[in-house]
Amino acid sequence: VRKPRVVVLGGGYGGLITVSRLQKLVGVNEADITLVNKNDYHYETTWLHEASAGTLHHDKARYQIKDVIDNSRVNFVKNTVVAINKDEKKIVLENSELHYDYLVVALGSQPETFGIKGLKEYAFGITNINSSRQLREHIEYQFATYNTEEVKRDERLTIVVGGAGFTGIEFLGELANRVPQLCKEYDIDNKKVRIVCVEAAPTALPGFDPELVDYAVNHLQRKGVDFMIGTAIKECTEKGIIVAKDDQMEEIKADTVVWAAGVRGNNVVEEAGFENMRGRVKVDEFLRAPGHDDVYIIGDCSLVINEEINRPYPPTAQIAMQQGETCAKNLSVSIREQGEMSGFKPEIKGAVASLGEHDAVGVVFGKKLVGSKASFMKKMIDNRALYMVGGAPLVIKKGKFNIL
Ligand code: FAD
Repeated sequence: VRKPRVVVLGGGYGGLITVSRLQKLVGVNEADITLVNKNDYHYETTWLHEASAGTLHHDKARYQIKDVIDNSRVNFVKNTVVAINKDEKKIVLENSELHYDYLVVALGSQPETFGIKGLKEYAFGITNINSSRQLREHIEYQFATYNTEEVKRDERLTIVVGGAGFTGIEFLGELANRVPQLCKEYDIDNKKVRIVCVEAAPTALPGFDPELVDYAVNHLQRKGVDFMIGTAIKECTEKGIIVAKDDQMEEIKADTVVWAAGVRGNNVVEEAGFENMRGRVKVDEFLRAPGHDDVYIIGDCSLVINEEINRPYPPTAQIAMQQGETCAKNLSVSIREQGEMSGFKPEIKGAVASLGEHDAVGVVFGKKLVGSKASFMKKMIDNRALYMVGGAPLVIKKGKFNIL
């Protein structure tokens, strides 16, 4: 008899954990495992704010997938998923096709621009290695060009960050550290630089403890970030952005606009015809798409409800990795057609937002932390993600040890 074919789409947090656990749980004769990812490397999405600001080289935030999987057990395919045909149990790749018996969709998220005009065309995103590298280069180019022009354009040195959520705040923390370095390198007066954060919600870091929000905002303000809270970006243009607060419109001229205010699930999921909300599928307790017992959906493409507040959990790497573990277990039960499936229940250990290399705010195991203690925890969390996939060797190679 033919072995069941398991196809995992996406080599991010969810996909890699699934594969690394599954290759141990099922024997060679029990299943064929295939992992598909756009690139031959995995990147740490949760470190992209550093690569984007230029405080961490992007190579530090990625590693080769072949180095962390058992290549004798897993067939790795470097390709882009174009479509999922769930009725024919077929995956359409850019130049080939794959058939599955069991599918795991772990394709991560995409920026959500909420239809705001011009964002897609003119704003940068913190989405993957390519976008981070481009943003870092773009910012540096503005600084490098400033003094070459006879008529100085200060908007070259204005950076707008749309969104004061997790990603926006973490990026601002890195930027506030990077800007003085750039000023020194390119002989620019620090006072010429303007960093503006525009947030439509009534607070920065919505969902965080107000004391921690104050700490983060004060820290960033001291480092020169202007906050425009309760202010919506109405439009992004070639020249900057147009914002609105209490019916007042204002233009902010800026050569760099970064959109960090929203994500949605992958459009491949949407186009496949699964019932979804902005590309995220509300999965059953075993992480399967409703009505499709052969399709598991995890990570940012999935939607899991927090029963306590009856609202979805925000998409995080923490949840994606935990789902990967449950998914691998349940796949092994499906493959063997015996055993009990495990229901997924997220175990939220906390959340820590970094504010640059040596500062952070967060809650860990119910305890509020700020400053160097929080920053230390953040690095431990980052190292743990490496450990979960590649063990100690990967931590030694890519880990964060600059903890003082
Ligand atoms: P990802 O890890 O993003 O992986 C998706 C993979 O799919 C990628 O390898 C991608 O290349 C691949 N892919 C995408 N489309 C295709 C395609 N069509 N074909 C083939 N391959 C494809 N979460 C936390 O828990 N804690 C944090 O501190 C935190 N900080 C964050 C900071 C930043 C700056 C950002 C952007 C996010 C942060 N998050 C954090 C959220 C976290 O990164 C995501 O929730 C997590 O990455 C989701 O994991 P995933 O497996 O669903 O997707």
